[in-house]
Amino acid sequence: MSKQYKHLFFDLDHTLWDFDRNSEKTLHQLYQEYDLAQYGITDFDAFVSCYTAHNDKLWDRFRKGFIKRDDLRWKRFWLALLDFKIGDTALAHELSAAYLEILPTQSILTPSAKELLQHCSGRYGMHLITNGFETTQWLKMQYSGIASFFQEIITSEKSNSLKPHPDIFSYAMKVTGALSEDSIMIGDALDIDILGASNAGWDQVYYNPRKVAHDRKPTYEVHDLGDLLQVF
Ligand SMILES: [Mg+2]
Repeated sequence: MSKQYKHLFFDLDHTLWDFDRNSEKTLHQLYQEYDLAQYGITDFDAFVSCYTAHNDKLWDRFRKGFIKRDDLRWKRFWLALLDFKIGDTALAHELSAAYLEILPTQSILTPSAKELLQHCSGRYGMHLITNGFETTQWLKMQYSGIASFFQEIITSEKSNSLKPHPDIFSYAMKVTGALSEDSIMIGDALDIDILGASNAGWDQVYYNPRKVAHDRKPTYEVHDLGDLLQVF
């Protein structure tokens, strides 16, 4: 028998909003709009592989505090272009700006996300807790048609804190009137969503579509959000 939850707190990127598919769609649009084939990039998939490899490496350096956000944003394109022997700093900056503009207007949701939100709507307080930027996250919700499901959007900017830090979870309870015992966090990141919620005394749902092996003990673990229709 599941606990009587009153407030569901969702993560957005990779949990409800399909970041990977939306990103790939954006790269495809850029590939066509900037006609990257004319520069000698004839294989789109190869371009995505290079971009992804550099993006992952730069993100790792960013998290460790070695580089700034702005550098991460344009250098992932610059390095991907260099893989194809294109040394064009201006083009890298242009692609970077266009990517950031187009990405949040994409609308692909993860499987069963909409169904789950509709199922829970009206029966729970529904909110988002996201480490993303306020304006970017709003655009994603508007374009994917899910903004109206949520009462409170808790961002790092509003709370002055980032998941998994306890402050963002305390802030979330303060603005929603939720208690730790009637709250549950649904997210895809063990060290961010699940750890943070667990430390705040909340139950957690680990959304693990790729079935990543781990040794944590979240309250629930699902591979498809549709599995939560029986929980909520
Ligand atoms: Mg996430």
